[in-house]
Amino acid sequence: MLDFVDLPALTHGTLLLTPAGSAPVHQLLLDSRRVGQAAGSVFFALRGPQHNGHIYLPELYERGVRLFVVDSNQEIPGGTLAYPGAGFLLVADTLAALQTIAAKHRRRFRLPVFGVTGSNGKTIVKEWLAQLLAPDELICKSPRSYNSQVGVPLSVWELNPTHTLGIFEAGISERGEMARLARVIQPTLGVFTNIGTAHDAGFTDHQEKVEEKMQLFQNVDTLFYCLDHELIHAAACRHLSEHQTFTWSRQQPHLAHVAVTVAEASADRTVVRVNLSRPRPQEHTFTLPFADEPSVENALQALSVLLWRQLPATEIQHRLDRLQPVAMRLEMKQALNDCYVLDDTYNNDLAGLTLALDALARQPRRGRRTLILSDVLESGLAGTELYTRVAAQLTSHGVERLVGVGPEIRQHQVVFGGVESVFYDTTDDFLRHLRTDSFRQETILVKGARRFGFERIVAAFQQKIHGTVLEVNLDALAQNLNFYRSRIQPGTKLMVMVKAFAYGSGSYEVANLLQFHRADYLAVAYTDEGVNLRQHGISLPIMVMNPSPDAFQVLRQYHLEPEIYSFERLQEYLVAARQQPLPAIHLKLDTGMRRLGFSESDVPALCSLLRENAAHLRVASALTHLAGADEEQHNSFSQQQLAAFHRMTPLLEAALGYAILKHALNSAGILRFPDAQLDMVRLGIGLYGVEATGREQGALQPVSTLRTTISQVKTLPPGETVGYGRRGQAVEYERRIATLAIGYADGYDRRFGNGAGEVMVRGLRAPLVGNVCMDMCMVDVTHIAAAQAGDIAEVFGPHLPLPELASRIGTIPYELLTNVSERVKRVFIAE
Ligand SMILES: *Cc1c(COP(=O)(O)O)cnc(C)c1O
Repeated sequence: MLDFVDLPALTHGTLLLTPAGSAPVHQLLLDSRRVGQAAGSVFFALRGPQHNGHIYLPELYERGVRLFVVDSNQEIPGGTLAYPGAGFLLVADTLAALQTIAAKHRRRFRLPVFGVTGSNGKTIVKEWLAQLLAPDELICKSPRSYNSQVGVPLSVWELNPTHTLGIFEAGISERGEMARLARVIQPTLGVFTNIGTAHDAGFTDHQEKVEEKMQLFQNVDTLFYCLDHELIHAAACRHLSEHQTFTWSRQQPHLAHVAVTVAEASADRTVVRVNLSRPRPQEHTFTLPFADEPSVENALQALSVLLWRQLPATEIQHRLDRLQPVAMRLEMKQALNDCYVLDDTYNNDLAGLTLALDALARQPRRGRRTLILSDVLESGLAGTELYTRVAAQLTSHGVERLVGVGPEIRQHQVVFGGVESVFYDTTDDFLRHLRTDSFRQETILVKGARRFGFERIVAAFQQKIHGTVLEVNLDALAQNLNFYRSRIQPGTKLMVMVKAFAYGSGSYEVANLLQFHRADYLAVAYTDEGVNLRQHGISLPIMVMNPSPDAFQVLRQYHLEPEIYSFERLQEYLVAARQQPLPAIHLKLDTGMRRLGFSESDVPALCSLLRENAAHLRVASALTHLAGADEEQHNSFSQQQLAAFHRMTPLLEAALGYAILKHALNSAGILRFPDAQLDMVRLGIGLYGVEATGREQGALQPVSTLRTTISQVKTLPPGETVGYGRRGQAVEYERRIATLAIGYADGYDRRFGNGAGEVMVRGLRAPLVGNVCMDMCMVDVTHIAAAQAGDIAEVFGPHLPLPELASRIGTIPYELLTNVSERVKRVFIAE
């Protein structure tokens, strides 16, 4: 075990403060929000474009962390003297120190270790290799897609003496990164999946990208790859000798170790014939339980490793049969009785459990936090130690109720004395005893190894309402947030608009994510929206744009800051504020929108009122809103608005005698007028994936996907009409019409009827036929032979972009997003 006092020599660092007593290093900690076990955790103060880990040192110390690695003596808040008993290591580069420490840990173990890289399929190949080799090995692997400069050291840190095999993936986006990951992983075996276009930006061409990735494999005994990727093959020939490779191919059978021909492909499986030349010529036939090309490629990649290990063909087929698609994402689903279910039913090892518990702890508080947990597999630890660790994790993550399922966890139930708990031997046992009404307003993490079939538990909790869901991708949302952050001047604050149920996406889930990512302010339209956020544990400052005058006390109670846009409202607020201190206000200035706000001619009177009432009132900010930020043609008008704002705000500040935040730009404005970002900007639609100027749509990720299901498919003879008013015109040929479980009551616009709209079924577009009804609508699927009842139809999302649909019916994406009715179940997904 490394001790903190060993680290200076290892990292070429200096001890600024020596920890009191011995300090064995148990955990590497990078995120102040994820302190599990504080004792033995070493915090690395990392830096990024938007991030400086040093500012969290006091908070971490407060929470019991005592060991810190920093890169600046000056940036330790309060200096080292403020941290009695702690140890501080000063290094040149905290990320490099983290990697060096992980590399040192890796060197302690002599075992085969796979390094997996390539443009696509890394995570799936890694997971499948682990599934296929699990019967023979005790495997340590990267959790999810922990493949970055920080993810790799954390993954490798999980290695312990009981493991017999490591499988780690490495992902890069720039030159120079792979050598650093190779130093940490030290692979003895390699899989190079393929090379594609992802992350092209950081490289001059594919050749350079391949060379960079090849760095991972400089010292491997054997590299597995597909010979049909010419660039990979050429690089392998340059860097490795022939006996260091094991190849497969579909196009050049005579050159590869494994020649593959596809014998048969059906809707859900692919039969391949495989010829091996060495050690002796043999031919086998295998059935892969997949039909799509990426899955087939990934499965063949993993199959080549099994062939190299010379497993008997029958055993290989047996294992392939059990190969499961990889659920890459954690999904949060609305469930019965106001509960939410975090669905993580894919696997259950210790590292995965920690990530899932982190995700649970990040959810806003709404009632209890409950965990339904199967036996934890493949930890390599003895039962008592394993479950004692699990129990400590539950405590540190605030889990209040545990349902344990499986013989092992049940056997070790005594260690869970600290939480309310109940145990069952099998999933069936649990389901037999399940009373869903004993779960109310809880956030329930369902975490089980594949073989426990926990998806049945999730199904039992999910509301059985009609088949329309709005899927909200929280990762995409976070990426969009980062995109706008990269366009905001340093020092400019970020307010995010979560009005109208966060543009239809679900207000507290979105607000919670924004809180996690440290937005500065939130804004809602009405007081009750703000109250709702507070009741769900949101503590960020919140501006309310349209507070009703009778609710000022509510503003006070919930710490909500009103926007004040007229003398009338200001007077009312002052009356109330003289009796009792009220939250700070935001002054809305009308510079041309002509909607709400004080005009320029109001400013003198406003200034005197503010001056007279300085004792009772605090002004947090002044804002204005541009009428034409979306469109180039209004640029000069926008500039006039900004000029008016610049004339008005100094007068207000002079009257108040202090500086206030000034903000004018919405999503479109942030990109169009970077020089006018002032003290704060107000991000709205862009966060939800729509770039309102239309110029940089490609930089954003689609966030929301509205899906429904086909309820029935009918074949109509020539001459029949479809739906109300017989508006679905008769045609002269036979057609197939699918009825979808979505209508205008779900927020699907009636204007999409009669051919104006399209949905996506089995990868093809299907036009609307007839009028949209209240709960249903019909589409023509004559050209989609396989369409059948139960199929999913995308209504909008990645394949049917909102801007396109909006323009088809003469509206804007904002309306389509916010119209999705609350009866549509929201499913939140995140990695
Ligand atoms: C809704 C709103 C925004 C955000 O506008 P987007 O176009 O969605 O970015 C900004 N400011 C005010 C005052 C708003 O009402």
